[in-house]
Amino acid sequence: MNKNSRKYRILLINPYQDMRSWIMYKERNLLSLSFTTRTIKAITPDDFEVKLIDQCVEDIDFDADVDLVGVTSLTHNSYRAYKVAEEFKKRNKPVVMGGYHATFLPEEAKKCVDSVVIGEAENVWPELLNDFKNGKLKAFYKSNLPAELQGLPIAAKEKYYGSKYGSFSMPYPMHASRGCTNGCSYCSINRFYNRTIRYRPIIEIIDEIKKTGYKFIAFMDDNLILDAKYAKEFFAALKPLNIKWTMQTSILIAEHEELLKLAAESGCFCFYIGVESINQLSLDSVDKKINRAEKFLAAFKKIKEYEISIVLLIIFGFDGDTKSVFNQTLDFLKEAGVLNAEFSMLVPFPGTLLYKKLKKENRILSYDWKNYNPGWHCVFQPKNMEPHELEAGFKKVLIKYNTPFWVLKRLIAGGKKIFLTMPGYYL
Ligand code: SF4
Repeated sequence: MNKNSRKYRILLINPYQDMRSWIMYKERNLLSLSFTTRTIKAITPDDFEVKLIDQCVEDIDFDADVDLVGVTSLTHNSYRAYKVAEEFKKRNKPVVMGGYHATFLPEEAKKCVDSVVIGEAENVWPELLNDFKNGKLKAFYKSNLPAELQGLPIAAKEKYYGSKYGSFSMPYPMHASRGCTNGCSYCSINRFYNRTIRYRPIIEIIDEIKKTGYKFIAFMDDNLILDAKYAKEFFAALKPLNIKWTMQTSILIAEHEELLKLAAESGCFCFYIGVESINQLSLDSVDKKINRAEKFLAAFKKIKEYEISIVLLIIFGFDGDTKSVFNQTLDFLKEAGVLNAEFSMLVPFPGTLLYKKLKKENRILSYDWKNYNPGWHCVFQPKNMEPHELEAGFKKVLIKYNTPFWVLKRLIAGGKKIFLTMPGYYL
């Protein structure tokens, strides 16, 4: 109890992010807010009341009667996270910050907050809350061990669908694993989790799906199929649940016929695949070793044999890219026949190997984090074009790919499954 003899009140805040499409923004962020901050909420002891706020969905009442504020941060919304922290600090409220950006630049974050959580929060959250109650918050809380995924409380204690944090157009977000052992140099995930991967016990995931009753699920894992044996058992266990589901996956799934079969039989209708580039030189330049450009079309064909749709994730600006990459990518997409593709410009996020490399080569052009938005600005000197040429080429692809002709083609190719994917991907 706090000094007013009531439970301590915590606000956990996901600050606003600028994105190209408001719907895409909203859906993406609700998905992540739903999982990560809800897990933290679920493990918070009963003498605390926790309220989650996504700044896109609702305004923050900076004068609210709260005892502790937690803010999460990605690089491109870190300036907004700092602004939120500043407002609460002005009102003498203690603020703690975590997330990728605070983890990779803890000293920077510490200038704006009382405490910084470095790494996964689950292990240090109980200690932090205890210190808070004793008025002894430390400057940094570093999680040295990976968080235990066995026995995780069910994140969705509260109603999801029909609430302002869950629309009917969105699948319910879940994770079966955390991390990735691959070493793609532009990726923050492998750095955050030290190139490890951990899996939740399958029985607990099945139990969670049964208890929540959700029939439409998005598995937000970074690379679930890394352990093919686990993936097979997992997909087989999903079969009796009669659900529809989607997941992010590496393209290597196309090489596992049994996995594809089990995925399709258990209700999978769409894969989100990070092909990243159709240019092998570009893939090599960022150590994306698992992607072989010459195998992409055959892989899509194989996946479609199982009636699973494909959304591609493509990045422009790698060191192998020349100005011709934009037209080449559009030509490739005509042939690929996938449900959709989503594009971004390369961003050297702090903490990644790419950031270190470009910094060493004096190729970082801006350290203004609000420009580190994959869909807005080029913040580094590309190798084979000028920054404005990368921005213009990227915009050209976005516009051309979203002309009525292309959209209609995708709608026809997508068939009824298009209604099962997130509408934000079409705007
Ligand atoms: S495979 Fe994906 S999650 Fe793994 S390191 Fe590469 S980009 Fe990151």
